[in-house]
Amino acid sequence: MNDPEKKAQYNLNKLAKRLRHGVGDAINDFNMIEEGDRIMVCLSGGKDSYTLLDILLNLQKSAPIDFSIVAVNLDQKQPGFPEHILPEYLQSIGVEYRIVEEDTYSIVKAIIPEGKTTCSLCSRLRRGILYRVAEELGATKIALGHHRDDILETLLLNMFYGGKLKGMPPKLVSDNGKHVVIRPLAYCREKDIERYAEIKQFPIIPCNLCGSQPNLQRQVVGDMLRDWDKRFPGRLETMFTAMCNVVPSHLADPKQFDFVNIRADGVAREDGDKAFDKESFSDPARINILASRPVAGLNDCGEM
Ligand code: SF4
Repeated sequence: MNDPEKKAQYNLNKLAKRLRHGVGDAINDFNMIEEGDRIMVCLSGGKDSYTLLDILLNLQKSAPIDFSIVAVNLDQKQPGFPEHILPEYLQSIGVEYRIVEEDTYSIVKAIIPEGKTTCSLCSRLRRGILYRVAEELGATKIALGHHRDDILETLLLNMFYGGKLKGMPPKLVSDNGKHVVIRPLAYCREKDIERYAEIKQFPIIPCNLCGSQPNLQRQVVGDMLRDWDKRFPGRLETMFTAMCNVVPSHLADPKQFDFVNIRADGVAREDGDKAFDKESFSDPARINILASRPVAGLNDCGEM
């Protein structure tokens, strides 16, 4: 191996280690995978789901518990969908898989008028099919490829357009109440996933085959986050840390904190509110290091 090759290998190892640690931490923190679980990994053919499958297969080899993985792709019959790519890839890595063929594309086209956004019906149909397949396969968990940046994007979208302080949970019960859905990439940065997918040369399937216009609001918020990440390094890490350190008594939702029955009890509190002082803030890098739990992607020294 010459020097540039050695350097490339070193960088890949570092990146893979960081992603594996991120996934491992998320699995532990949220108890995502338990002994005997059968994990159905939803594979779209995009960088995120390929990375998720790759990292989970890797962790499976060294995990102290036994669990199985089955990859599932839903072929929605979008025009030009390259059907051979995923089966070939999945056979090449030797993982159990199922390709489900359901023409949701025609259903969506028949119901939604031309020019209107098709995503909400399309994803509802897809969700229903994936739940059914999870049952058929006896899957105990459904794993999705959303990452940290998707979670932050959703948080801001809900704040800006939905009037809710609500993100995208790393673990939840499905809306039909029958499945546990997990997002093991919850601590992983999109730019790491992007690079990993490039280096590993996953056979990516383009995500615009359905011809639907991308959601403009999501695009704007995503661009804003990427711009912040460039101009204010550490800001996204701090924002995600904030999602893991919620203080209901310092928000304004009476359903989350019993403001009604607050009484002065005469006891001074070290962490009590300085009612008339302005908050002062450290720089983001310090906040990350000082946060009560380690930030995903940071090592013990707070380095990326
Ligand atoms: S982008 Fe296309 S495939 Fe994806 S949810 Fe929207 S309509 Fe469906």
